Amino acid sequence: MQKLNFVILITFLFNTSSLMAQSPKPVSKSEINQVREIVRHVIESNDEFVKRLPPDYFNQLIHGQKPMATMVTCADSRLHTHALDIHPDGDLFLVRNIGNQVSTAEGSIEYGVRHLHTPVLFIIGHSSCGAVEAAMSKPAHLEPSIWRELDTIKVTGNNSDDRAQVKESVESNVNHQVSTALKKYATEVKEGHLTLIGGVYDFRNDYSQGSGRLVLINVNGETNPAEIKKMPIVNFK
Ligand SMILES: [Zn+2]
Repeated sequence: MQKLNFVILITFLFNTSSLMAQSPKPVSKSEINQVREIVRHVIESNDEFVKRLPPDYFNQLIHGQKPMATMVTCADSRLHTHALDIHPDGDLFLVRNIGNQVSTAEGSIEYGVRHLHTPVLFIIGHSSCGAVEAAMSKPAHLEPSIWRELDTIKVTGNNSDDRAQVKESVESNVNHQVSTALKKYATEVKEGHLTLIGGVYDFRNDYSQGSGRLVLINVNGETNPAEIKKMPIVNFK
């Protein structure tokens, strides 16, 4: 009996100590405050957004969507819809992932193109893209799930500290994503139902056109800027 009690005591102590070891540390007050401020920012922003709109604003959105374009962008926090569409509600079927990739979001893009029938598929990269830089420098500490998502980023250099190399790799990745989409949607493009447009949102002024400009670098696989300029779809004069 005494032996049994000893076993129970040891088991109890072991379980208690392992439970204590697993218990997370209490969250600090400053962390709670930080999270509260973030949540407050989102709630207040939403409140302001709703208050600025006329009361019947959402009626147009209730019965479905007919977006004008499917757009794939990087998930980077420095690139947002308002830079590319001043009134984006209902306009863009937006797909975001690290490195603005087509293969890792195949189903979402296909829904936009083949079910919502958007006549344009944009693929938009951006200056200083961290995903492109990671694909260049291949840092060892990344998790397997992140590595898998870098698989279809195509870069041209391996020095992510070199601004020119990063710019070139951002372009090469956008062009690669456009060519992946061109293969998949060859019929739609050939029949004129879909136009693929690749661009770079340039907040670092890599293209010397001014910070924050969208630079179009690829239309249906054409990457020569002089040829792109001649195309009626991008000639607005
Ligand atoms: Zn990025």
